[in-house]
Amino acid sequence: MSIHQRLAKLNPRQQEAVRYIDGPCLVLAGAGSGKTSVITTKIAYLVQECGMSARRIAAVTFTNKAAREMKERVGQMLKGKEGHGLTVSTFHTLGLNIIRGELKALGYKPGFSLFDPEDAKALLRDLMNKDAQVDAEQINAVQAQISQWKNDLILPGEALSHAADDDQHFAARVYEAYGRHLKAYNAVDFDDLILLPVALLQRDPEALARWRRKIHYMLVDEYQDTNVSQYLLVKLLMEERKTFTVVGDDDQSIYAWRGARPENLVTLGEDFPRLNVIKLEQNYRSTGTILRAANTLIANNPHVYEKTLWSEMGQGAPIRVVVNRHEEAEAERVASEILTRRIKERAEWRDFAVLYRGNFQARLLELKLQHYQIPYKLSGGTSFFSRNEIKDAMAYLRLLINPADDNAFLRIVNVPRREIGPGTLEKLANYATERGVSLFDACHELGLEQQLPARAVECLGRFTHFIDGVRRRMDQGDALAAIRGMLHEMDYEAWLYQNASAPTIAEKRMANVWTLIDQLEKSMKPALGNESPEERAEQAGEEDDAETDDVEAAISRLVLRDILEQQAEEDDTDRVQLLTMHASKGLEFPHVYLMGLEEELLPHRNAIEAGTVEEERRLAYVGITRARQTLTLTLARQRKAFGELMDCVPSRFLDELPPDDLEWEGRPDREDPDKKQARGQDAIAGLRSLLG
Ligand code: ATP
Ligand code: MG
Repeated sequence: MSIHQRLAKLNPRQQEAVRYIDGPCLVLAGAGSGKTSVITTKIAYLVQECGMSARRIAAVTFTNKAAREMKERVGQMLKGKEGHGLTVSTFHTLGLNIIRGELKALGYKPGFSLFDPEDAKALLRDLMNKDAQVDAEQINAVQAQISQWKNDLILPGEALSHAADDDQHFAARVYEAYGRHLKAYNAVDFDDLILLPVALLQRDPEALARWRRKIHYMLVDEYQDTNVSQYLLVKLLMEERKTFTVVGDDDQSIYAWRGARPENLVTLGEDFPRLNVIKLEQNYRSTGTILRAANTLIANNPHVYEKTLWSEMGQGAPIRVVVNRHEEAEAERVASEILTRRIKERAEWRDFAVLYRGNFQARLLELKLQHYQIPYKLSGGTSFFSRNEIKDAMAYLRLLINPADDNAFLRIVNVPRREIGPGTLEKLANYATERGVSLFDACHELGLEQQLPARAVECLGRFTHFIDGVRRRMDQGDALAAIRGMLHEMDYEAWLYQNASAPTIAEKRMANVWTLIDQLEKSMKPALGNESPEERAEQAGEEDDAETDDVEAAISRLVLRDILEQQAEEDDTDRVQLLTMHASKGLEFPHVYLMGLEEELLPHRNAIEAGTVEEERRLAYVGITRARQTLTLTLARQRKAFGELMDCVPSRFLDELPPDDLEWEGRPDREDPDKKQARGQDAIAGLRSLLG
């Protein structure tokens, strides 16, 4: 299909959004109105009609899943070389690429490590335990505070002046030490992937000019969920050319808790006065009934921009609300229904999605699906990357590219067993801290012999010698062969067999490790959004050490993917999709089940307490608008919480849906009208406070 034919399929407003390329453009529209379609078509339009090189275009979105989908859609439009060098990625991957291209300017050495939240927590624990024993909750609080500062672009040295109370003062001091240590480990954390590029582009005009030369057009999906630093990244890159398209829906803003600023929609208009705002109103996804439910629900939130969504998809079936005795009955019901509906409606497994508020809700459902032998895919939750064997293998990879990565060192120094005890490690750590070197480097130092028994020094030496050998082989030629050789040489498989309760388990674990290495190999091959070394060298200029660090880049990407999605590799086979409402953003499915429509679950108890029910309502709106043909809402009368069976109250959101469109099964007693009125008062008070 030519680009002209593609354009002809869009409605006039969508066409306008695609064709407008001379200035900043904001598409503000409700769910399923074709915002993402505008982005993908526009990429093709820029390349095929405007003759822009794909290499100059960067499209960003929020989740890996969404980036993958977008890549796929664009891949169908751009043929052969047309798509070469195009960036379609998450914000964090874009940030990672900028960091990789600017290591020198940032003061990092090649082969830096990316700390996942667990690594970061371990470092924080060390730092915080120095003064006094702290518990997990305190560490989490400090970690969240640091993350918030980073998202708001507050650097370690500045946090103290932003600290409002004792807790924040404490956090600010930890933040400073944390920043110093990360730098010493040549490591960055997840939030740094945005913070570092933004801070660099702000202070270094040459770096800014480099990246402005590289990226000529930017497209951002799910713009309502950008945080301060992500917005600044877009703004910095595009301030001069003013050529970008961002699309979003304020009603789908569901990441305020992670620093997202839906006000960025307003800020954009202030920063770019010539902003062309385009609204889309036709929904192409859902039946009239589903759309009416979504519109009616979200009308309960105050609105900055009014939107009216309509659809030509016909009224469709009513929305079913299924009340179950308890949570197990709920899971049983969903599983058995999918089994029969698949046959009755001639659907595929993949046509069904089950969405829920929290990952824990998937456990019972998984059991039931297994019972009926229904294939399913769980997004998030227990992930491929959180398996022990994968964490071990990742730690080896990280240590290979950056021996200063102490967390990686500690994880595997004794895996498989090398007779290096905790006492030895503690002395080693003290020695390293005193001298300000990494654990790995400390092993090489002669002075260590005075601190440790000869036997311990020998064991440590054997380990570092082994790693050094692998590193040398990696540098000399086939890095992957060196990595595979390492796994054989240390006989990781034997270790797995020793530690597994059954041989089949060990077998499976070893297979997982090989899968990881295969993934690594795959991600080294140039693909869409994944440029070849020459191209990367060309773009980043002479500073890039692309020749040698291809495997490093691939490992960083693996670590990033691990953090981003915490799940196994993409899987296109025919399976029922299980995912949280947060993870479902941007996706669509013919048949959707929303589970657990109960007070304290959706809306979540924390949100009720914190007075942020509006965000929960948006979350429900996102969930509902994923459905194309049918929507089923389920709830339980009783649910186990804190080891006890508790009575559940149906979600207030059920009251906010058009009653005539709902078909109840097992309707609970009507609620007492006083309670309902009290809730109404809450909502009004919330609105007033919002309007100031
Ligand atoms: P969300 O807010 O959920 O991310 P969206 O606004 O990004 O939704 P899309 O995912 O782009 O919406 O589109 C929703 C569905 O409508 C898709 O299946 C898409 O192919 C289809 N669609 C979009 N525009 C048109 C059109 N002009 N004609 C027919 N189908 C369309
Ligand atoms: Mg979309």
